[in-house]
Amino acid sequence: MIDLKKSVLNEAAENFKLVEEISELNTLKVLEAMRRLKISDAHFKTSTGYAYGDIGREKLDELFAEIFKSEAALVRTQFVSGTHALATALFGILRPNDELVSLTGAPYDTLQTVIGHAHASKGSLKEFGIGYRELDLVEGKVDIAAIKNFLTPKTKLALIQRSRGYSMREPLTTSDIEKICAAVKTANPDCVTFVDNCYGEFVETREPVEVGADLAAGSLIKNIGGGLAPTGGYIVGRKDLVESASYRLTAPGMGNELGASLGTPRLLYQGLFMAPHVTAQALKGAIFAAGIFSKLGYKTHPLPEDTRGDIIQAIELRSAQRLIKFCQAIQKFSPVDSFAVPEAWDMPGYSDKVIMAAGTFVQGASIELSADAPLREPYAVYLQGGLTFEHAAIGILSAAQELENL
Ligand SMILES: *Cc1c(COP(=O)(O)O)cnc(C)c1O
Repeated sequence: MIDLKKSVLNEAAENFKLVEEISELNTLKVLEAMRRLKISDAHFKTSTGYAYGDIGREKLDELFAEIFKSEAALVRTQFVSGTHALATALFGILRPNDELVSLTGAPYDTLQTVIGHAHASKGSLKEFGIGYRELDLVEGKVDIAAIKNFLTPKTKLALIQRSRGYSMREPLTTSDIEKICAAVKTANPDCVTFVDNCYGEFVETREPVEVGADLAAGSLIKNIGGGLAPTGGYIVGRKDLVESASYRLTAPGMGNELGASLGTPRLLYQGLFMAPHVTAQALKGAIFAAGIFSKLGYKTHPLPEDTRGDIIQAIELRSAQRLIKFCQAIQKFSPVDSFAVPEAWDMPGYSDKVIMAAGTFVQGASIELSADAPLREPYAVYLQGGLTFEHAAIGILSAAQELENL
């Protein structure tokens, strides 16, 4: 294992350098935004009750808007997760008889429950009379040429998932997103382009809205929270669309003007400041895992040398036994709940049994070293996160060792 580690680190040197350069540029972007908006201690004060006129909340929205080069932002701990932020935007914008399409094949498991077309689910968009179609991927890629004929005048919103999620397709790069958004606008200029940005933030130097997306949303306990945000989600993009989403999050008429921060502001600001660096740590962990496991004879997506569009590393373990063992090893080498033994269970919002290893400070935070997998062919584990590369490397090598011992 020591020799294996050495050779993987040698081969990864160039890729690591690239990751560091991106992290530097993104750190500069965040820092410049914080300077320009004059972030100060006053913005970290907590608010309670209705929290009218909470300057920390308002400034954080401005800061996200600035960093994502968008007109508006809604950053809230009242979003319980990324799915909630995405669903809030969808329910806020779509109306009965509108059509929603996914351009990146089947969306992430929890969004399928929100949409309600793959299988019936209570409270879904389908129950509100919202139509849905999916544009199939072709060899794992978005069929950009087909977008023109796929959209109709009824298509109100096109969902574009940046990350691979629990699938073997490649994540989108921001240049892919640029091309997809342009194709949508050519076919139907009124169709809203909405990017599920989970796991994609700060992996590159550009973000979806600046390459043509109308809207993007994600989770604060992934990349953008820098491991410090205790919970929450965000929506960024066109002002009218963010406003529509805000009425769904709170209530019509209330929108973004209230919502108590309950002691969270400093963590959200500081987490955002840390996020480019922490994302880089996670990316290095992913590159390292790809290197180790491909040398051990497993298929990895991406390959160690591939360009990355998200922080997820998929490894095909080919058996349920190895999959479970892998997740148990990641859990065992976690700082929190290391003594717990993860098992596969029916997690709300997911259709297959899912096993998750997350020995994290923030419950389930997948910017911290974590592994999860639906129990289905090809028994791929999805590894992501690592607040420090050192921890990611320890976890990955330990998991590799345990599989070798089987
Ligand atoms: C994580 C994730 C989500 C949202 O999941 P939550 O657990 O609700 O935050 C949505 N889409 C993708 C691609 C994701 O990776």
